[in-house]
Amino acid sequence: EELACLETTDTGKTTEESRWDMDDVAGVFNYYAGLAREEAREVLDAPDPNGKSIAVREPVGVCGLILPWNYPLLQASWKLAPALAAGCTVVMKPSELTPLTTLRLTELCEEVGFPNGVINTVLGPGATVGAELAENHSVDLLSFTGGSQTGRTIMGAAAGNLKRVALELGGKNPHIIFADADLDVAVDYALNAVFFHAGQICSAGAKLLVESPIHDAFVEALSARMKAITVGNGADPDTRMGPLISAAHRQKVEDHVALALSEGATLAVGGARPDDPALANGFFYLPSLLTGCTPKMTISREEVFGPVIGVERFDNEAEAIARANDTVYGLSAGFWTTDEARIERVSRALRFGTVWANDFNVYFPAAPWGGYKQSGIGRELGRAGLDEYTELKHIYRNHAPKAFGWFGADD
Ligand code: NAD
Repeated sequence: EELACLETTDTGKTTEESRWDMDDVAGVFNYYAGLAREEAREVLDAPDPNGKSIAVREPVGVCGLILPWNYPLLQASWKLAPALAAGCTVVMKPSELTPLTTLRLTELCEEVGFPNGVINTVLGPGATVGAELAENHSVDLLSFTGGSQTGRTIMGAAAGNLKRVALELGGKNPHIIFADADLDVAVDYALNAVFFHAGQICSAGAKLLVESPIHDAFVEALSARMKAITVGNGADPDTRMGPLISAAHRQKVEDHVALALSEGATLAVGGARPDDPALANGFFYLPSLLTGCTPKMTISREEVFGPVIGVERFDNEAEAIARANDTVYGLSAGFWTTDEARIERVSRALRFGTVWANDFNVYFPAAPWGGYKQSGIGRELGRAGLDEYTELKHIYRNHAPKAFGWFGADD
């Protein structure tokens, strides 16, 4: 509860969402505590009967962890828990906008007796403190979650000592509604896919593709539900959607909406700040729906990272798949249908690190998370998330060595 309240103070998200995040944080630490007990070695079939061969996993070393502001402690746990389970030491840098929970966790780790130097936290801006972590030759691995442009900069900076890089970056995540879907549930999930934490979710299903026969009814039902979302202070229990993280970020979201309208989209809902004077001092923005979006529009291609859905209409399955895959990103995708054969086909055809059928935004510690294409490098969570923090070593031992003799022993 203490950490949840701190997270809401820092991010503005509702306290209930912060509580869910803290449950997930505990789940991630429990999961990797379990994996840490397993023996990290594999016995290999050596070709020589006198040979014994094993592959062992060893800690990669010092890990720099650079964190974003949208899920501060949850993103920290996705990196810190496997790094510790692998036996690494870490230097964490939370976002300068949301350092509180990472600092409190660092204090708690000290209280419970982690040896000095195992968990280190540094504060400061990305361009200086973050850049130092990316460049520093004493850092063996750099794990970063944040924007794609920052990811590119970090990858370049990490090249100096060829440190390992793990990147979790942005996405433009398609959410496809086929005409045979259960419409009431699909409308509910069109909201869930985007409006938690005011749309500031890397996996937000903000590119909504709706099949033509149901398009108009779907948009109408979605619009009615969106207008009923209570926007306000995240600490107020009646609030369903809090503010954006900063004035600069809200301006970015507003610019995206203005550009979409200038490129031909139609504003169906929102598109403005709330007019309630009580909200005038926060960075609030109404849930917004843009219809008539087409594949070439910027709104259909770039991540907005705010409470904005762009709706595109499509006519058949092949078109939906082609449009969904037509992106430089590949983080996550979801779709709704009651056709079993289609679930199989579409799940395989979508080029994304995670695909949800008849659900959206499902995360759990055992399920690997990461992006295809420009959404990242490597995976977090699951066993793959632990392997990121290890080096793989082959140890070979000969139990009965004999001279080979090729270099003149018989002469
Ligand atoms: P950001 O890139 O602005 O900042 C992320 C972190 O990088 C911050 O700690 C920042 O201080 C640091 N940083 C900035 N410039 C740096 C530099 N030159 N060198 C080293 N560090 C630097 O991103 P953000 O705005 O905090 O987060 C939003 C982005 O994160 C979105 O694009 C979102 O999609 C992405 N994200 C992705 C995932 C995922 O799992 N793929 C999860 C959460 C957020």
